[in-house]
Amino acid sequence: MDIRDFAQNRHRSVDDTPFGGGAGMVMRPDVVDAALASQADKPGPLVYMSPRGRLLDQALVRELAEGPGVRVLCGRYEGVDERVLRAREAVEVSVGDYVLSGGEMAAMVLLDAVVRLLPGVMGNEESHAEESFEAGLLEYPHYTRPAEWQGREVPEVLQSGHHQRIAEWRRARAEEITKERRPDLWARYLENRESGEEDER
Ligand code: SAH
Repeated sequence: MDIRDFAQNRHRSVDDTPFGGGAGMVMRPDVVDAALASQADKPGPLVYMSPRGRLLDQALVRELAEGPGVRVLCGRYEGVDERVLRAREAVEVSVGDYVLSGGEMAAMVLLDAVVRLLPGVMGNEESHAEESFEAGLLEYPHYTRPAEWQGREVPEVLQSGHHQRIAEWRRARAEEITKERRPDLWARYLENRESGEEDER
C-alpha cells in the first residue's frame, strides 16, 4: 500500500517538519491514520517497526505466528508522529540496536521469521524444535557428505548411527557454543533449567 494515496494536499506530502525544531521530517498523523483506517478490517495487532521497540526474538515471532495476523507500519525519515501510534495502540518492535533508513527491511525480517512458522510452510514441522533459540540455545553444527573434505572429517559420533549418543553430542555442542558466544542466552538458559527442575519436584 502506498502511503501517498492517503495524503490530503495537492503535493501528496506525507511528512512535515518536527515541532520543537531539529533536523529531518516526521510522518503526519492524519495521513498515517487514514492509511491505517483503510486496513481496519485486517485482524491482529498493529506493529510499528521502530528502534525504540521491544527487540524481536523467537518468542515474539511464535506469538505472532499463532495469532490471527499482523498489520505492519513502517516509518521513514525521523519516524511517525507519536499521537497516531498511541491512538492506534501500536506495538513497537525493533530488529536490533542499529538505525535503518526505513522500516521496510525490518518488516521483511519480521514477516519472514513469522511466515516460516505457519503450518505447511517448512514441510517438516519437527525441524523447528531443534533450531537456534527454540530451546534457548544456539544450534549445534551441521555436516553432510563427503565424510572427509579437504582433510577435515565429520565427527565420528555423527556417523555412528547411535541416536542417543548423537543427541548427547549435539546438546553438548549447542551448550558449548551458546556459553562461548552468547553469555546472555546462556545465563537465561541456566535459570530456566533450574526453575524447570523445581517444577518437576
Ligand atoms: N529517529 C528515529 C529513527 C528513524 S529511522 C530514532 O532515532 O529512533 C526511520 C524508520 O526506520 C523508523 O520509523 C522505523 O520504522 C525504521 N527503523 C529504523 N531502525 C529500525 C530498527 N532497528 N528496527 C525496526 N525499525 C527500524
